[in-house]
Amino acid sequence: MKKMWETHGPQETFEIGKQLGLEAKPGEVYCLDGDLGVGKTVFTQGFASGLGITEPVNSPTFTIVQQYEEGRLPLYHFDVYRIGDVEEMDEIGYEDCFYGEGVCLIEWSTLIQEILPEDAIHITIEKDLEKGFDYRRIQMEREKV
Ligand code: ADP
Ligand code: MG
Repeated sequence: MKKMWETHGPQETFEIGKQLGLEAKPGEVYCLDGDLGVGKTVFTQGFASGLGITEPVNSPTFTIVQQYEEGRLPLYHFDVYRIGDVEEMDEIGYEDCFYGEGVCLIEWSTLIQEILPEDAIHITIEKDLEKGFDYRRIQMEREKV
């Protein structure tokens, strides 16, 4: 199943994330890809809000994963931008997150492509400068990798 949205500012991207957070189910893994500054973290903040998380959500730059227990489901927010080797994911114990009862959101997921679950949900965010500086195209695909 494919879906596409177009947004014209961070608030709209936040709202799409929020809607998906409201609908998220236990065990889902959301892969978030797109260039630096495209809005992956904004989307994640909306998603967290949809799960009922009120504490601030930022990119877990120094930890790879940040866990939030406050919402309707546990949220594991990964940002693997600075990962050196996929083995670092083993050290974190990623399998408990990917295959547990919570929801995972992974910024820069293509960097750990080989360990992504086959049924992961893929979300790609892109700019198109011809359509304006704040324009984003958000595409979602719920299929095999
Ligand atoms: P990433 O996590 O992908 O590196 P961030 O979410 O941290 O990106 O930052 C996205 C930046 O782009 C923010 O400064 C945000 O205000 C800005 N922005 C402008 N337009 C949009 C939009 N339509 N959707 C999301 N972010 C936008
Ligand atoms: Mg980010």
